Amino acid sequence: MNTDSELLAAIAPTSGPTREVHDPATGELVGTVPVEGAAAIDAAVATAKGAQPGWAALAHDQRSAYLLAAADAVHAAAEPLARLLSREQGKPLNGPNARFEVGACEVWLRAAATTVLEPEVLVDDGESHAELHYRPIGVVGAIGPWNWPMMISVWQIAPSLRMGNTVVIKPSEHTPLSVLALVHVINSALPDGVLIAVSGDREAGARLSGHPDIGKVMFTGSTATGKAIIRSSADTVKRLTLELGGNDAGIVLPDVDPTAIAEDLFWGAFINTGQTCAALKRLYVHEDVYDAVCAALTDYARNVPMGVGLDEQNVLGPLQNRQQYDIVASLVEDARAAGARILLGGDPDADAPGNFYPATLVADIADDNPLVQQEQFGPALPIIRYATIDEAVAMANGVDVGLGASVWSADKDAARAVAQRLQSGTVWINSHGGLNPMVPFGGAKQSGYGMEFGVEGLKAVGSPQVVSS
Ligand code: NAD
Repeated sequence: MNTDSELLAAIAPTSGPTREVHDPATGELVGTVPVEGAAAIDAAVATAKGAQPGWAALAHDQRSAYLLAAADAVHAAAEPLARLLSREQGKPLNGPNARFEVGACEVWLRAAATTVLEPEVLVDDGESHAELHYRPIGVVGAIGPWNWPMMISVWQIAPSLRMGNTVVIKPSEHTPLSVLALVHVINSALPDGVLIAVSGDREAGARLSGHPDIGKVMFTGSTATGKAIIRSSADTVKRLTLELGGNDAGIVLPDVDPTAIAEDLFWGAFINTGQTCAALKRLYVHEDVYDAVCAALTDYARNVPMGVGLDEQNVLGPLQNRQQYDIVASLVEDARAAGARILLGGDPDADAPGNFYPATLVADIADDNPLVQQEQFGPALPIIRYATIDEAVAMANGVDVGLGASVWSADKDAARAVAQRLQSGTVWINSHGGLNPMVPFGGAKQSGYGMEFGVEGLKAVGSPQVVSS
């Protein structure tokens, strides 16, 4: 096992309807996946339900040992997994991309295995004693997006399994190979039936999220789909963790050194070629440093290599699918038509193969422009000028989502004072988007609810139970 072709052969469909998956950089065929529907979802949920009591009966350290073995298996298969991810998603092997993502899968598996969740003693006053425990929920349905398909799957799978649930996962129809391959590798270390991947379209996702035997849905994707899942959860009062869309603001205070922050600003916005939920998507820069920040960012961005993922020198790749390319292209064209100034990019080569859209910086743009107000989810960053902090905070908070935000300043106390005024699940200071498996992550407003990672993440896939005596 573990060469590229053996991995693809292991997950190849054996019957039923299938779909070809093509490399978004070259158009080449990567592989073929099953397109399953309600019957496959029902069968998977039944199997996972049957396996759940036995899995839940194991002690925490036994489930942890399985997860650590799964992390070892991911480690051993890291290179073929990264190559497949690169070819299907488009992200390059290097930079904060495919190898980084597979490495994060291993890290988050180990973190879920080793995080300790003790019962909490609530009252112990000599007369009464009450403890809060977290029991397994049952079968968790995991539904994910196409931008970080492997890493986000592990975020959903690993804590769920650790807490004694079994899992049925439905990958994005845009990146099923990556998730099927990852689950195949993880399953080499797990008992049968505790983790099942079903490759299908939106209908399969809807069946999973509405299934009566699913106790909890872990969903990462768009806010629109999140709302559909909330509705379909109502009949059976399912637990939900919803990691939805974002439109993260960064606020640059006037005391920064523009050259010193340019690289971190760039990667905050352009990680995974902008296809990242908690990427910097709107940059608010004080008028005193506006021109200097624009110039420093442009100088850095123009030298970052973009191209086919398997070429080792590239660190930016194509958009994963044509729909997303069209969204980015049309938002930039609308901004240009409205009088915004394109500092860099905005000029894709229409005749070139692949969904390549160049790294694009857009200055002198109004805050109400669609490129600012909508989630572009691609390599086009609007840079908005502001005069007062009140104005910047109002603009940053002026959208109905709130996943992440950042404040950039030489004075961390000043940055923290701005941070506490921002409506987002995370605020980073002098960076944007860094995640840690022990630090909870989740959205404010319509970016969702429920936390992932660390102890809070384990609690979110457990059913709280108070034992009073
Ligand atoms: P999407 O909502 O279109 O699809 C996500 C998944 O939901 C897919 O697997 C899809 O098949 C499934 N689905 C579609 N309709 C469904 C339904 N009615 N019921 C159940 N499942 C259904 O999202 P996408 O385009 O794949 O992902 C991009 C979005 O995800 C962006 O908005 C991005 O910000 C967001 N995202 C958020 C986070 C986070 O942690 N908050 C992380 C990554 C991506």
